[in-house]
Amino acid sequence: MADDVTLFDRILKKEIPAQIVHEDECVLAFRDINPQAPIHVLVIPKKKIGRFADLKSRDAAEVGLFFQHVALVAERLGLEPNGYRVVINNGRDGQQTVEYMHAHILGGRGLTWPPG
Ligand code: AMP
Repeated sequence: MADDVTLFDRILKKEIPAQIVHEDECVLAFRDINPQAPIHVLVIPKKKIGRFADLKSRDAAEVGLFFQHVALVAERLGLEPNGYRVVINNGRDGQQTVEYMHAHILGGRGLTWPPG
């Protein structure tokens, strides 16, 4: 449930350490503890959203702002020239393991497709 306190709630509150790469009024971005690419950063909205599917009932400006910030973080990580991938896992079949919506930014190498 989105009301449950998740690992990422605790990272946002700085109760659990993380390698933070960017923070502003809208998002927190930190390195994934189990990176799947040379650069693997997670971006979470400060205003909690449980999962991607919940975006349907959120304010469109809030949703747009989140994705703009994901792009901003990717740019700051130096990924724009070569490109990168943004992944949001949703629910059980999507392999979402933390019920706090997060965008994975993956880059720093040529990524393969399709994903598993
Ligand atoms: P997902 O499977 O899409 O829910 O992604 C959750 C991600 O959180 C995984 O890629 C994990 O490696 C990552 N993760 C788990 N614990 C931590 C942590 N303490 N700090 C940073 N990333 C974490």
